[in-house]
Amino acid sequence: MTTEVVNTNELQKIDPVFGQLSFDDHEQIVFCNDKDTGLKAIIGIHNTVLGPALGGTRMWSYNSEWDALNDVLRLSRGMTFESAVTGLNLGGGKAVIIGNAKTQKTPELMKRFGEFVHSLSGRYITAEDVGMETSDMDLVRTVTPYVTGISEEKGGAGNPSPITAYGVFMGMKAAAKYAYGSDLLEDKVIYVEGIGNVGEALVENLSNEGAKIYISDINQERLEEVRDKYGVEIYGGSNLYAEEMDIYAPCALGATVNNHTIHQINAKVIAGAANNQLADEQKHGLMLREKGIVYAPDFLINAGGIINVYAELENYDRQEIIRKTENIYNTTLEILSNAETNGITTHQAAFNVAQARIDARKKEK
Ligand code: NAD
Repeated sequence: MTTEVVNTNELQKIDPVFGQLSFDDHEQIVFCNDKDTGLKAIIGIHNTVLGPALGGTRMWSYNSEWDALNDVLRLSRGMTFESAVTGLNLGGGKAVIIGNAKTQKTPELMKRFGEFVHSLSGRYITAEDVGMETSDMDLVRTVTPYVTGISEEKGGAGNPSPITAYGVFMGMKAAAKYAYGSDLLEDKVIYVEGIGNVGEALVENLSNEGAKIYISDINQERLEEVRDKYGVEIYGGSNLYAEEMDIYAPCALGATVNNHTIHQINAKVIAGAANNQLADEQKHGLMLREKGIVYAPDFLINAGGIINVYAELENYDRQEIIRKTENIYNTTLEILSNAETNGITTHQAAFNVAQARIDARKKEK
């Protein structure tokens, strides 16, 4: 997977936080440090106009603290628009923990992180993201009520990933309908990049529908496990983007649609779970439009997870979770046609709907 290379020397010349490239009038950024547990985390609260800032916690071995800050700023901003376009009364927030989730995550570290979340008195509510499991949220729950995505045994809505995947599947079907005139994915050649919690559940939905699926991941064990379970093919080449395919489904990390990949992408549809798929929303959104690629905006179609965890706050049931998630199909079709009518990118069309909701609420206040 090719991501944009950030020149750290260049970044250091600009103001470190408010001058950051990805800073977009964020309300609050909290740096959390605990020597005893080794916790180094950043919580980004982008906007709380519609409600408390809800978004998952990502644990990742970042190359630098700059990368971690950049990631949390981009991710928390994305959550603002995700909840807004989905019609939820939530703001946008996200947290990152710097470190390797496999080797550095301990119960003590997770609890200490929970205490930092608690210190924000509900302005930020956490959940799972990359590197986190439902059991981690259960641990956080022992020190703060400001956490969602806890296990069903503990009274939560459980792992949000299957619902996220189902929403992505719905958004993908809508985008296929737009591109091909039919939402049937049978025999469509689909590349799923990243087969973690969401990627695997997406593969399950897609294989049930008879798609021709190729998977890629940096984790070989995982690839073999998913291949054996669903009878899909492991992508053996070195440049997935240039392969002939109908649909590209980015389900790993963000910014895979970038200056290096965009000229090579052959797919007619891009629809996946990863947050911030476009390295540069404006530029790459426009380039996709010019290439005639139907891009289902990430923050629109990966909202199943937030719909699932929001149920814990609003007490709606499984049926309502499914109904709201299936509605991603209709919203995606509306956004794609809105973009065409107005001659704007699909990302911009989704963004405009979200921003209008935030602006209207601001006026009411
Ligand atoms: P995960 O950690 O379970 O899976 C991520 C997978 O991507 C892992 O298998 C990892 O090995 C793989 N990966 C990492 N770098 C890669 C690379 N360079 N090339 C190929 N594969 C690579 O995470 P997840 O929960 O499945 O989330 C996947 C994406 O969806 C993330 O971007 C996340 O922010 C987004 N998302 C997740 C949810 C959710 O409910 N879990 C909700 C909304 C958005």
